[in-house]
Amino acid sequence: MPLECREELFSLPEGLFGLNLSASMSVYYQCQRCTACCQRPGFVRITEAEIPRIAAHLGLEEAEFIQRFTRLTPQRSGLALLDKPNGECLYLENGGCLLQAVKPSQCVGFPNTWNYPGWRETCKAIPLKNEESGTQELRKGMKASLFS
Ligand code: SF4
Repeated sequence: MPLECREELFSLPEGLFGLNLSASMSVYYQCQRCTACCQRPGFVRITEAEIPRIAAHLGLEEAEFIQRFTRLTPQRSGLALLDKPNGECLYLENGGCLLQAVKPSQCVGFPNTWNYPGWRETCKAIPLKNEESGTQELRKGMKASLFS
């Protein structure tokens, strides 16, 4: 899968603020932390607001974090986390996310606010029919990621 494809499908954070989740989501996919998306080659965009939180979580100054652990997105429109040589996210370790407490909004949103062709083939997220609970859970996750 070309990297451009993932960026093209990624619509956060701009899309998030105008998105009416309760109206647009008939099914909410509850993440099972299978890490399939973390292992997929691509990039994890980080927002300006996320940089200080992630840097602090790693015990780094913002400038050091940016210098050592980020790269430009392919279209040079922002910053992304570094990857391992095999393409998976640098912060995937022992089957878990080292950034779980400060996870980027891109990670929180998958697969509900963005996804990629064929994502259901590997992702173990469970579809929930209860729209309201799913919407509330997504809102809670997005709010924690973006504004805490
Ligand atoms: S930051 Fe965490 S959740 Fe996001 S891709 Fe990396 S390991 Fe996965």
